[in-house]
Amino acid sequence: MSYSNSTATCPHCGKESARRALTSINIDKNPEMREAVRDLSCFRWTCPNCGVTSLVVDPCLYHDMSGQFMVWLSPEGAKPEDADFDPLSGYTMRYVDDLNSFREKIAILERGLDDRAVEIMKLLLFMQLRHDLDVVEVLFHELDERTGDFRFVAVLSDGVEQYAAMSGATYQRIAQDVRERLYTRSRTFQKIDMEWARGALELLQA
Ligand SMILES: [Zn+2]
Repeated sequence: MSYSNSTATCPHCGKESARRALTSINIDKNPEMREAVRDLSCFRWTCPNCGVTSLVVDPCLYHDMSGQFMVWLSPEGAKPEDADFDPLSGYTMRYVDDLNSFREKIAILERGLDDRAVEIMKLLLFMQLRHDLDVVEVLFHELDERTGDFRFVAVLSDGVEQYAAMSGATYQRIAQDVRERLYTRSRTFQKIDMEWARGALELLQA
């Protein structure tokens, strides 16, 4: 892990204080960080002035060597600079701009799934659910190892969460379509989200 010296302004008391910002995580070297990413506690910061804890989002690079992927958390929404290392063949490189997408992307890629197919599944589910519900967001939740089903959580406008599933067969079909018919640059960090899925679905259905 690496850190840099930074400052943060407490959302509670408004005082700015110095803090150590987490700038990179190598999960093979620090597997104990897995849970801290899952529950986002690695981004939690306690204000030394008032003692209130809040989430602070810093640019952070997550590297999983055995899973061969990198996820760049780029909170300003800026596309990260292209990696200044030699292109790593077979690597999946993504960037996201918020904490939920960060942990979601890691959860998808560490299961060895094609996140492009998963984002298309999320979009299909979103379009289906919004006929009856005021859905704000759909997130990947888990892969049921027993049934092969993909579980998603739909967040509604009133904050209520609803679970929905899609079959592994649907994933396989979409993943095959994506592999055969879509080209995604692999040497630079790509943003693969539901917005990307909209364009991809149009291409696939054309
Ligand atoms: Zn404070």
